[in-house]
Amino acid sequence: MAELNSKLNLKLSLNFLTLKDFDFKNKKVLVRVDFNVPLDENLNVTNDKRIKESLSTLTYVLEQGAKQVILMSHLGRPDGRIVEKYRLTPVAKRLEQLLRQKVALTEDCIDIKLPDAKNSRVVLLENLRFHPEEEKNDEAFAKKLASYADVYVNDGFGVSHRAHASVHAITRFLPSCAGFLVEKELTVMGKAMINPDKPFIAILGGAKVADKIKLIDNLLAKCDKILIGGAMAYTFYRAQGFSTGASKVDEDGIEVASDLLKKSGKLVSKDANKIILPVDNVVADKFDENANTDTVAIKDIDSGWMGMDIGPLTIDKYKEILKTSKTVLWNGPLGVFEMKKFSRGTEEIAKYLAQLTGKGVTTIIGGGDSAAAVEKFGLSSKFTHVSTGGGASLEFFEGKELPGIKALEDSYNKSITKKNSGKKKKKK
Ligand code: AMP
Repeated sequence: MAELNSKLNLKLSLNFLTLKDFDFKNKKVLVRVDFNVPLDENLNVTNDKRIKESLSTLTYVLEQGAKQVILMSHLGRPDGRIVEKYRLTPVAKRLEQLLRQKVALTEDCIDIKLPDAKNSRVVLLENLRFHPEEEKNDEAFAKKLASYADVYVNDGFGVSHRAHASVHAITRFLPSCAGFLVEKELTVMGKAMINPDKPFIAILGGAKVADKIKLIDNLLAKCDKILIGGAMAYTFYRAQGFSTGASKVDEDGIEVASDLLKKSGKLVSKDANKIILPVDNVVADKFDENANTDTVAIKDIDSGWMGMDIGPLTIDKYKEILKTSKTVLWNGPLGVFEMKKFSRGTEEIAKYLAQLTGKGVTTIIGGGDSAAAVEKFGLSSKFTHVSTGGGASLEFFEGKELPGIKALEDSYNKSITKKNSGKKKKKK
């Protein structure tokens, strides 16, 4: 943790142990990873980013001489029962290829005898969510998982916003620390939230405003500017009384958008709002790749037409604003990037951010759809950080406490208290 603080050059309120604080020699190490990866209909892993991101922790623990590494993850939403298509078999196969060593997949995650450590140094437990106790944060379930090992590592950032047994309750039963991935996510994103190099600009897109109120609110206090795109823009326009044709509008978010705009104006001078909206849009006559399209100013969206992407003037305007930035956080695509015709805004801004990264700007891509978009454009490696956690990174940027991280802090504080009370007893 000291290392994390010095990297950030600040005192974070986070206080937990990391891998470097432990001696793993001859230890059995239980690692919570997030291998909830997409599969195709033939159950092939179609995106292995999350598996790859776990490798630095796994390799480190193995190199340090761990006796056995026991991995645990969930996959999909089996809702507490065995669902064949959510077995971790394809994940074990891919991990085996990436790690270049045997990975033994167990038939269940609890009430089993683990394979012998001599023949199976890497073990993957079957899907945790085949048991309802996992999502209920059940103590007895966590205790059973903990019984497999001497040390617990949380390297599943994507599940750290969940108070689930393998993320939360388990820290009560084993010495616990964060893995390299969790440490990296918190280091980069923590700096942006606490002490960003300025100007700090956020780019927000996607569909819903109501879902992102807390995020926008928190960012209004921290960012110099917030550039809006995606369907979210039309909710903001409706809040100003513009007609938005058939564009997707989050009706529940209109009032919220209006409040945010008022707040945004108050935070800076009257004619320089913090929230910046698109000045033009690519519109379509239907939600379809083969739709007829046009590019229009925001006030000119006729009924029957819908905004599908930010227009060229907006792209240029946003690039101009981003030019001077030192930190950029991006959450949510700027258009319907899944359709080629409407992916230009998202792609051009992604490419521009990649260029800025090369010039030393810190660029952070929140997980979920934004991560999927940059992946689609083949740009994933071109940013300072692409988060592996959609929901987790969103909650982190909303300023919420992540239960999985809080559990690591509690475990650390408990170990300190125990150490100190031991010392006092000795003195007596
Ligand atoms: P969210 O989950 O709120 O981040 O929304 C992501 C989704 O917003 C993606 O699937 C995009 O296709 C969609 N999206 C972005 N721009 C638009 C738009 N102008 N109209 C409709 N959907 C959009």
